[in-house]
Amino acid sequence: MARTLILVFCLFLVAGCASIPRTGGPKPAGEISAQELCRKYNIECRWDPVSQTITMFYLNKKIQGMVGSDMVVTDKNRIALSAPLYRKHGAVIFPPDFERAVFGPASVPQEDYVRGAQSGRLRKVVVDAGHGGKDPGAIGVGGLKEKDVVLDIARRVKKDFEAAGVTVVMTRDSEDFISLADRTMMASQPDVDLFVSIHANANKTRRANGIEVYYVGALSRDDKGEDQRLANEKKICSLYNMRSDIPDLRAVAMDMLYAYKCAFSPGLSDAVAQGLAHEVPRQSRGSKPERFFVLRNTLIPAVLVEVGFVTNPKEAALLKDNAFRQRLADSITKSVLRFVYASGI
Ligand SMILES: [Zn+2]
Repeated sequence: MARTLILVFCLFLVAGCASIPRTGGPKPAGEISAQELCRKYNIECRWDPVSQTITMFYLNKKIQGMVGSDMVVTDKNRIALSAPLYRKHGAVIFPPDFERAVFGPASVPQEDYVRGAQSGRLRKVVVDAGHGGKDPGAIGVGGLKEKDVVLDIARRVKKDFEAAGVTVVMTRDSEDFISLADRTMMASQPDVDLFVSIHANANKTRRANGIEVYYVGALSRDDKGEDQRLANEKKICSLYNMRSDIPDLRAVAMDMLYAYKCAFSPGLSDAVAQGLAHEVPRQSRGSKPERFFVLRNTLIPAVLVEVGFVTNPKEAALLKDNAFRQRLADSITKSVLRFVYASGI
């Protein structure tokens, strides 16, 4: 994909950033052409005729949209518009809500608008309780099962998010077994902002202890071509009205999403690890990159929290304790919210 992106940008350079298509004829009220936007905000716009992608630079922010898609990606946001971008007499036309969603109303200072919008920014989180059903996960001291510990903590995280006004989708809210593929499919909806997976650790050494948080590590070409990832991409493309039948266009769109995911996941993981280190009296094993299935096959910022070792006698006792589970859940939720509102994800 990276290669495709480079190719696209090379073509774009060769093509001389072709001039931005000119304003076409009359447009429905509220719609605005790329040329009008560039003039109004005095911004740099680049049009790539190969991928039909338009890139704008505004206040050090990169904004990318694609003709035919109702999704726009900025450095910090993935914005779903009311209608797809389209071309009319050669001009790229944005729907009426684009300007407000990306630039803010002209009468309101940009910073105030951004701050105000942030409070409602986190719409939906997928909370993933690891394992379940026939898959018990790690089995620890006294037969303590990872699947039971993490389901209870995930339910507490759900309640905490809901108390903060965030909608939660649980990948499982019962004993049932849910495949890893289905878990990532649940995260491939346009209105899902984050994926938080809860697991518990195990080790042959009973001494091993502490809490660690993971984000997705560098993906190989094979990882990016993984069947499940492609299925999720197709799903998200159709939900965003992107044409998934043209591989190059889909690759550009997925690069946009992947860059967005990678821009946020490490910071989110660090924030959760730091929050837990301060708020839960256990050793912090830090925040690390990994290639876990649910991290590499989700197309949104994602973290996986290992809440402690069920094989460590002291931690197993704590992980059975309701107050400790609540403390973990409170800290995970608060850390995510703190990070989201500080970064404007
Ligand atoms: Zn696990």
